[in-house]
Amino acid sequence: MSTRAPASARSAAARATGLSKVYGEGETRVVALDSVSVEFGRGRFTAIMGPSGSGKSTLMHCMAGLDPVSAGSARIGDIELSGLDERRLTRLRRDSVGFVFQAFNLLPTLTALENIALPLAIAGRRPDRRWLDTVVATVGLADRLGHRPAQLSGGQQQRVAVARALASRPQIVFADEPTGNLDSRSGAEILGFLRDSVRELGQTVVMVTHDPTAAAYADRVVFLADGRLTDELLAPTAEGVLERMRRFDATARTS
Ligand code: ADP
Repeated sequence: MSTRAPASARSAAARATGLSKVYGEGETRVVALDSVSVEFGRGRFTAIMGPSGSGKSTLMHCMAGLDPVSAGSARIGDIELSGLDERRLTRLRRDSVGFVFQAFNLLPTLTALENIALPLAIAGRRPDRRWLDTVVATVGLADRLGHRPAQLSGGQQQRVAVARALASRPQIVFADEPTGNLDSRSGAEILGFLRDSVRELGQTVVMVTHDPTAAAYADRVVFLADGRLTDELLAPTAEGVLERMRRFDATARTS
């Protein structure tokens, strides 16, 4: 059974419009994002790529309500983030956004299951048992739920982190280089889980990566350079992404 919405019913899970982000002032002023407009489709897996310093993390942090925007708009669903006070922003991040980071950020004293359920416990929400079972089955953790992080491999720890991000059934999951600390086999597993969460569970995932192979798991790749959106690729292959990156490098060298 698939819970995925039909393509016609899909709309943007998150949207940036003319989003700019400036850090510092005067001589230390950095324009990290320069009027970026982009939509992240509901029930889709989007990768954000670009050279180091191009604004990938900043875009993700602004879209996730972790960093205020300098100008323009960042929305999760219909909610404009810049209109929210700190309390509402905290609630939105807790209820509507899931995060997966390069460092797994698990609590060492809790079991895998306790880690997965922790954000729900903090929010005072009772886990939806059926959903939790589905998530745990999708990430293949059923026989590891009683283990503590130190008893799990890096790949298994990141699976726990992915399950934790999915547990509250957030509107959108942001993953920042989720395979950066993993060997290629564990990385492929995590990317497969993220893709399955989109295809089988209807989750929306936005992932920052610099790895063309990782980006090829996504439905779509958007490219950033110098804080601007420069290109996008649908149904990407690793070769296609690599070729596009080479083209940017060549343009950057001649300009
Ligand atoms: P990427 O994720 O593509 O490597 P970032 O979004 O981290 O790029 O950074 C974009 C630009 O913004 C870079 O020039 C970076 O140095 C700058 N930047 C990012 N975060 C901060 C910050 N907290 N303070 C000042 N400058 C920052």
